[in-house]
Amino acid sequence: MDEIKDFKDLLKKENLKCTKHRESILDVIDKAGQPVTVEAVYLKLKEQGVAISLSTVYRVLEALLGRGLVVKTSVNDDSKALFEINSMEHKHHFLCVKCRKMLPVDGCPLEDYEKALEEKLGFSIKGHKLEMFGYCRSCRYKDE
Ligand SMILES: [Zn+2]
Ligand SMILES: [Zn+2]
Repeated sequence: MDEIKDFKDLLKKENLKCTKHRESILDVIDKAGQPVTVEAVYLKLKEQGVAISLSTVYRVLEALLGRGLVVKTSVNDDSKALFEINSMEHKHHFLCVKCRKMLPVDGCPLEDYEKALEEKLGFSIKGHKLEMFGYCRSCRYKDE
């Protein structure tokens, strides 16, 4: 997990100019260690003294999303969408609807299902999305 990522190279590969904003946004998301909201990115940047507006953060994130450098997850409410660095690794998440914590879960239950569908319907499936949401362990016992 200590690998130092070179976002400059990554941006260049995707033909995106390496601007200070793009680089610092990727850096903030990476250091957060878990998926973050646009607002959280914005607040972190402000804390670091980066002069940027919330709408610029949105725009940059959409651009990064379009190039597949980050992935976005939203449950119900798009303004609460969470962004994380696209690790290219296939994984699923659990989102706590109360504290908005997002946790990766092990394994994928859909691999066999995908294969079965491909055989049955003649599809070629290239991926899927699966998000689970509910209450995390601490929120669950707080409420019940
Ligand atoms: Zn929670
Ligand atoms: Zn899966």
